[in-house]
Amino acid sequence: MLEGVEETAVPHLSLLEGEHARQQIAILIQIQQLDEQLASLDAHQKRHEQLVAAAAVQHEAALLSLASARSSLNKINKEWKALEQALSLSEERVRKLKDCQTDLKTNKEYQARLAEIEAAKADGGKIEESILVLMEKAEPLKKAVAEQEAIARVEGEKLQGVKAEIETERVQRAGVRETFVVERDALFAKVAPTILKEYRRLMTRPNRPAIARLLGNVCAGCRFSLPPQFVVVAKAREKILRCTYCECFLYATVEPSPS
Ligand SMILES: [Zn+2]
Repeated sequence: MLEGVEETAVPHLSLLEGEHARQQIAILIQIQQLDEQLASLDAHQKRHEQLVAAAAVQHEAALLSLASARSSLNKINKEWKALEQALSLSEERVRKLKDCQTDLKTNKEYQARLAEIEAAKADGGKIEESILVLMEKAEPLKKAVAEQEAIARVEGEKLQGVKAEIETERVQRAGVRETFVVERDALFAKVAPTILKEYRRLMTRPNRPAIARLLGNVCAGCRFSLPPQFVVVAKAREKILRCTYCECFLYATVEPSPS
């Protein structure tokens, strides 16, 4: 009656039958539940690490903008300082020209000196105008630096906050993880080596369970319909069966028998 099943089931695994097979299936279900919880913990940790990386990128970008704003302001300040020095030299020159006026003998010499003083004053005036232009330029740059400093500070605080939060949760998660691993390792010891080897191989496949429930006659692992004989055998958990399509171990929830 179940000949079709014998053909599709993996031969060395169908060696396990009856009560032993039922126990193995029950253990595999527990192992898979623990593995899923472990995977969920790891995924959580990964998401947290991505959050930290994203916060670090934001902080880095804020620091770069701040450095750029400071550099623009520094350039203006440097030019400003140079002009202040030039202005002070110009004023010094005017002062000296005025001081030496008493030595002048002729009216011509006196007129020439006056012209010289006027020219020096005009130079000073131009420098003062340039300084005013720079002052106007510096104003928005100072504002930009202050704004970028505030942004960088906020981003830095955010980064530290996320780091502290994930570290606290990482420690908690590590504790829970360790409990699950110990529990799972204890179950590993109860599984037949051939089955355990297969289970581990199946668990390496992305987005596919190693052991799946039969929903009616459909494998919950791959959603393919299986022959009716499978359902009968799986419900009795008499043999360790494998899905013909996705290879996962199959089990069906056994209806509680009325007592
Ligand atoms: Zn399947």
